[in-house]
Amino acid sequence: MTIDALLSHAADGGRISADEALHLYTEAPLHALGHAADAVRRRRYPDNIATYIIDRNINYTNVCVTACKFCAFYRSPKHEEGWTHPLEEILRRCGEAVDLGATQIMLQGGHSPELGIDWYEQTFSAIKSAYPQLVLHSLGASEVVHISRTSSLDYASVITRLKAAGLDSFAGAGAEILVARPRTAIAPLKESGETWLQVMETAHGLGLESTATFMMGTGETNAERIEHLRMIRDVQDRTGGFRSFIPWTYQPENNHLRGRTQATSLEYLRMIAVARLFFDNVSHLQGSWLTTGKDIGQLTLHFGADDLGSVMLEENVVSSAGARHRSNRTELIELIRGAGRIPAQRDTLYNHLVVHTDPVDDPVDPRVHSHFSSTALTLQPV
Ligand code: SF4
Repeated sequence: MTIDALLSHAADGGRISADEALHLYTEAPLHALGHAADAVRRRRYPDNIATYIIDRNINYTNVCVTACKFCAFYRSPKHEEGWTHPLEEILRRCGEAVDLGATQIMLQGGHSPELGIDWYEQTFSAIKSAYPQLVLHSLGASEVVHISRTSSLDYASVITRLKAAGLDSFAGAGAEILVARPRTAIAPLKESGETWLQVMETAHGLGLESTATFMMGTGETNAERIEHLRMIRDVQDRTGGFRSFIPWTYQPENNHLRGRTQATSLEYLRMIAVARLFFDNVSHLQGSWLTTGKDIGQLTLHFGADDLGSVMLEENVVSSAGARHRSNRTELIELIRGAGRIPAQRDTLYNHLVVHTDPVDDPVDPRVHSHFSSTALTLQPV
């Protein structure tokens, strides 16, 4: 098929192969690629709404034995700068988030050998008991693998116990790039991409949905980028459990991946568009403003994205690696409006909580700003 024919086929809802996606990613004119992706977005979401969520990422520990080369956040066990927050501090931050209008908590942290299933069960139960209105969209496949090791449990048992303790869904963190060659190069001690997908498939089967992420720009080839998408789509065909796909760009500061470069803004926009065309089975596509900046974040809404993710009340992991972008609720609303779309605050399930149809009467709490604390919590846009 010619590029024009491929774009029409995909824009009309036809499935494209991985080879065809790679062809479009590398060869299609940028404008035509974005136009086709936006056509798919418009058909899926004819209300012209683009969403955001208010949540708080709580990084409960920076102690980690997995030592990913791209990570500027972790400290090895016994390192003098290592910390694990006591439950009281985690609850205090949850309460603060509730006061600021957050609907979701993302507990993300290092793989501390001190934390077994009991710690997670007690923490989740305590949060749910104190703040039953908060959705716990937390951890991820990597944490399940780690807990299975520290507590000698199989994946299904870990997932079942986390769910019983209050976990509502898994974040898509830890996916990085699922393809073996680049994954091994950047995270040699992390579980394989196949295991990450196996855990997610198990979770979906046990009733815990998730998101899926992609960290672009650590030295992978274009073909490996598309292969990452294919691996996720194949699982999604079987489970339907991935609610959204969230690509973001690697941040290169303060870590051990010297010499590698970030994905460019154009590469990022092309990835957003191809993801919208390739993932005919994933409902939502999130553009990242945290790692690419607000201008590119806004542009993603013209390349197939329907969501700008979180007004993050706290973020430490990506900012540790050099992400300098900050935003707040008012700015995100204006970014969405500037793209010609209607802003809406969503919940974890993408239900619209507040639709901002009137520019004058936005009930924006001025306290809802990004708080980038040097002492606390979050992993990646998930
Ligand atoms: S990315 Fe996560 S698993 Fe990897 S070193 Fe950092 S905290 Fe540990």
